[in-house]
Amino acid sequence: MPKDNRVQTELTVQGIPASPGIAFGQVFVYLQSDVQVPRYEIPAEKSIDEIARFDQALVKTRQQITKIKNEVEKNLGADEALIFDAHLLVLEDQVLISQTIKEFETTHENIETCFERVSESYIKAFSEIDDEYLRERAGDIRDVAQRVLQNLLGQSENNLSQLADKRVVVANDLSPSGSASIDRSGALGLVTDKGSKTSHAVIVARSMKLPAVVGVHDLTTKAQTGDWLIVDGYEGVVILHPSEETLLKYGKVQKAKQSFEDHMLEANRQPAVTLDGVSISLMANIEKVSETEHVKEYFAKGVGLFRTEYLYLNSSQVPTEQEQFLAYKAVVEACAPNAVVIRTLDLGGDKPMPSIPELDNKEANPFMGYRAIRFCLETPELFKNQLRAILRASVYGKVQLMFPMISGVEQIRKARALIKECTAELKSKGLSFDPKIQIGAMIEIPSAATTADILAKECDFFSIGTNDLIQYLIAVDRGNDRVAALYEPSHPAVLRTLKHIVECAKKEKISVSVCGEIAGDPIYTVMLLGLGVDHLSMTSASIPRVKYLIRAIKISDAKALVKEALEKETAHEIHALLHSFYTSRVKVE
Ligand code: PEP
Ligand code: MG
Repeated sequence: MPKDNRVQTELTVQGIPASPGIAFGQVFVYLQSDVQVPRYEIPAEKSIDEIARFDQALVKTRQQITKIKNEVEKNLGADEALIFDAHLLVLEDQVLISQTIKEFETTHENIETCFERVSESYIKAFSEIDDEYLRERAGDIRDVAQRVLQNLLGQSENNLSQLADKRVVVANDLSPSGSASIDRSGALGLVTDKGSKTSHAVIVARSMKLPAVVGVHDLTTKAQTGDWLIVDGYEGVVILHPSEETLLKYGKVQKAKQSFEDHMLEANRQPAVTLDGVSISLMANIEKVSETEHVKEYFAKGVGLFRTEYLYLNSSQVPTEQEQFLAYKAVVEACAPNAVVIRTLDLGGDKPMPSIPELDNKEANPFMGYRAIRFCLETPELFKNQLRAILRASVYGKVQLMFPMISGVEQIRKARALIKECTAELKSKGLSFDPKIQIGAMIEIPSAATTADILAKECDFFSIGTNDLIQYLIAVDRGNDRVAALYEPSHPAVLRTLKHIVECAKKEKISVSVCGEIAGDPIYTVMLLGLGVDHLSMTSASIPRVKYLIRAIKISDAKALVKEALEKETAHEIHALLHSFYTSRVKVE
């Protein structure tokens, strides 16, 4: 491999793994910077021309974004392109436009200055809102505003769309349109100083299958265009100026990982049965009807979590009972005879819904606020629309109905009473439903976990939402990268709590599954199986690696491992134990 002769010390930086894969190549440093806007006065006689210039820039920006949107839609699919609809909406924002013109008419300063001032005040207002979703909207406005300013100043677009050679893009930050404009044929990988696993740039990288690592803080100040770099998207590691030895190691790792992935995909056709003959059902988490395709592709045994709120979030109005019924029916029919666990609305909190004013999300603690079942029980008509739609879909296959964010048994009782009202209404209209439909609770709030014995008596099944359970147990915001290190699924408190929940479920002979992200992480599979979890539900693409591990272990070993883990005092010790068990059973060689 060509390397330059300068003696450069190898530098290893740990970031957040954002998109799997390993890339090696030369760096292209990309510094996203704000456009510098000159400030000057416009004489009164040029006012009309200045406003016309603004109009032209808006039109040009719209054309550019529409072009990117079409490209993304073609290459990555309609869902990934949705973000650009949000960008187009910013351009149509009449308040933003009229305020800019008003600012111009008052100050007589050039239109760039006025537009920058107005858009900055918008960005500031959005970025101060204590909600991740709305803060991201600030990013959208900034992205669009920068484009408008570039067009007003006659500057060209960024150069990520034409990478001269195969390069690893190392950026300080990346806007959604910046990431979407990356030249797929030229980019080998992506590394960003900022960002989280859920940032749009990363979502696009993942769908492009570009290995990516984010959150490397200041790598752009250390790396230069042309430097050699390894991106390990599996482990979140970036190595600048890798030595020959490291290269050799990573060359082997990359080859091994690829052939291992191929091997796992091939093995995924086999059933998920342990070496001592215990069959585990591996189900899929979905958000959209179209994802049933992946359910089949990865041989999932049905859907263990259908996050129905996305039907609401993806439409500007609350979907009708009939619209919901058709969506649920499509999924249920596609998965039959396997079960589909339909979770009722988990809106609010981090998922505000503009068309439902009660969920305006202006709360100080939205994660602990008016959301999910709390909101549903207080808006029974809206809730019953969904319940009837689910009940009606239940005759087309096997449906299980589940409530999110249950904090106590009264909520189950109230929800069951509403289901009873719905079944009576359906009967009176001559509409059929499964009278034996199973009704379960997500266990994701510590109060539900500690009262799992009470809940188990009134539920047909449990599904443990570890994403939320861990955040509430350890009091660590699941989306905040500053406290990400404290988000420890192997914390002894998590292990003990899971054990308690499973024991309560077993005592009442109800099934228990895990549908949080750890269900799809093979390191934790042994822990969950050793605890006695019956089903695991995960992103479909995670099934092969989890199944591979299941086929390589005995349940008796998993139980012994959990016993040992329960004696450990720290998350670190438990993680080390689980990790070494995993590597002893699964060899990537
Ligand atoms: C969870 O909390 O673990 C879960 C599966 O639900 P969500 O990620 O939708 O909150
Ligand atoms: Mg949850």
